[in-house]
Amino acid sequence: MLTVKELNNIEGKVIVVRVDFNVPHKNGVINDDNRVVAALPTIKELIGKGARVVLMSHLGKIKHKETPEVIAEQKKKNDMAIVAPCLSNLLGQEVLFCSETRGEKLLDMVHSLKNGQVLLMQNTRYEKGEEKNDPELAKLWASFADGYVMDAFGSAHRAHASTYGIPEILKAEGKPVAVGYLVEKEVSNLTRCVDVKDEDRPYVAILGGLKVSDKIKVIDSLLKKCDKILIGGAMAYTFSKALGHTIGTSPCEDDQLEYARKCYEDAKGRIVLPVDSKCSDAFENWTSVITTMDCNIPEGMEGMDIGPKTIELFTNEIKKAKMVFWNGPMGVFEQSEFTKGTIAVCEAIASLKGAFTVCGGGDSASAVKQFGYKDKFSHVSTGGGASLEMIENDGHLPGIDVLK
Ligand code: AMP
Repeated sequence: MLTVKELNNIEGKVIVVRVDFNVPHKNGVINDDNRVVAALPTIKELIGKGARVVLMSHLGKIKHKETPEVIAEQKKKNDMAIVAPCLSNLLGQEVLFCSETRGEKLLDMVHSLKNGQVLLMQNTRYEKGEEKNDPELAKLWASFADGYVMDAFGSAHRAHASTYGIPEILKAEGKPVAVGYLVEKEVSNLTRCVDVKDEDRPYVAILGGLKVSDKIKVIDSLLKKCDKILIGGAMAYTFSKALGHTIGTSPCEDDQLEYARKCYEDAKGRIVLPVDSKCSDAFENWTSVITTMDCNIPEGMEGMDIGPKTIELFTNEIKKAKMVFWNGPMGVFEQSEFTKGTIAVCEAIASLKGAFTVCGGGDSASAVKQFGYKDKFSHVSTGGGASLEMIENDGHLPGIDVLK
């Protein structure tokens, strides 16, 4: 796979870069510019080589099946124009913005670009065909590109026109397609969690979060690679019920009980479940909080976090690890009463010396940042969905494979 660093002789060439500028924003104000900052090394590399840089990204969701009024409202809310001044400040140079995703205005702006100039195109999802990888749309966008760089890891698991269609066409035309710095780093770190080497064992995975059904494929895949899987969060209660324990009013997916039972049995001791829980009498506005003595939860109580014995158990397992992959919080970490389990996992991982430690994005990445552990991990992924899919599919993602 070609990298942006290896992309040479691009002076004066139009390089389309798929970035992830899906920033959190409200009323036209960007709340967190991390994603824009993350794309800077690739953009600067291309500017330095004299390329004419055209940036494309999605922002939020546009439901094209809604009425024209609702679509117009969604487009107004997710107008990419807010990102141009932010990027311009960070880059220290002007960033042109094109409010259109096709047509004469876009083509004129692209063709008027000077070497080293940057143009940001309107939200790719303004186009109905983007998410369907519409061939006509991909052809249109590819028509003005002399090359393509993929630097949107968070979108690499989607085969959309901007993530798949454009590079597919350019590659067939013999034009260069490459990965940017951000994607290169993500792929190399996550590949290590997939192609496990002896020196990275024991390999411990920690899974949490809400639903077993969302994580079936990842559990199955990790079971083939890991030495231990520690399961916490709400999904642990489906396993607990499947093994015959009482779970009170804790979240449970009854249609996954059989899967959970079989999966636990087949793992032959490699799946480690909570042995106690911190529970409350309601999800919100609770009036009592208890810690159970064992894995049974009394009637009327709901498991909200792993308990102290589980923290000790999980910490001891993590201590033995040479490599850790973590996805999903251990409890409802958004409520201060139930942060302990998730913080303890952060702490245990942070205390490892010489181990390779990866947080797979999403809510666990938010928790890692919120509790101040980001710099203690070898890698915190920027793509929750993409990193999980990469683990599930043995290192393959459509938006990466198309570049090979
Ligand atoms: P996921 O997107 O599957 O990683 O789930 C993350 C969400 O799971 C977070 O919003 C957590 O609050 C939630 N969660 C974790 N543990 C529990 C629990 N015991 N009960 C309810 N929600 C939980």
